Amino acid sequence: MQITEIYKSLQGESTYAGLVCVFVRLTGCNLRCTWCDSQYTFYGGHQASPEEVLDEVLALSPNGGLVEITGGEPMLQERELVPLMERLLEHRFTVLLETSGERPLGRVPTAVVKVVDVKCPDSGEGGTFRLDNLEVLSRRDEIKFVLSTRADYEFARDFTARHQLSEKVNAVLFSPAFRKDASGARNSSHCLLDPQDLADWMIADGVPARLSLQLHKFIWDPAMKGV
Ligand code: SF4
Repeated sequence: MQITEIYKSLQGESTYAGLVCVFVRLTGCNLRCTWCDSQYTFYGGHQASPEEVLDEVLALSPNGGLVEITGGEPMLQERELVPLMERLLEHRFTVLLETSGERPLGRVPTAVVKVVDVKCPDSGEGGTFRLDNLEVLSRRDEIKFVLSTRADYEFARDFTARHQLSEKVNAVLFSPAFRKDASGARNSSHCLLDPQDLADWMIADGVPARLSLQLHKFIWDPAMKGV
């Protein structure tokens, strides 16, 4: 597998936010979201076998707990990733998989919590979500919309209603995008969409979704990597 980094921090953007978590960040992505803050994962990294990755995770968290597979787009390495996720489950980890939803998710073990992005129009990658992935999502999983404009919000609101997402998954997350070059102040001034505007719209429309803020960007400098 091609790995960018493995580290321990706090989970930042799902219903697991705030919990101690080991992150396995895989290298490579086939999308190019306009606000992507993970461009450093597109190239480079180092080779490791699934067993070597498992050993590194166990060294950071010997007693199990939470581990998140992220990227980049981890499902580009599905052939080795699926066995790795199976091994982590055998070791009683709760496994989260952050994925764009552009790759087929049918081979992901059902015990893995899938946190799946649906890309909105102003991400520059709208329309990449595979609708047939909705068939493999369960009440364990979460769907996330990263929003940078009112148009993105309306897309997410309407997609959530049309596909009755709140009845399919554990949580539907509406998350304001951060400026990709954000650094310094740890507050919402770096959000492309003001969380207060988003909150007002969600309340007015009674959207069955959860406003989600990227917790780690309010704890550490938003430019900091490995947190
Ligand atoms: S899918 Fe994720 S890693 Fe890939 S470009 Fe979009 S935000 Fe960045």
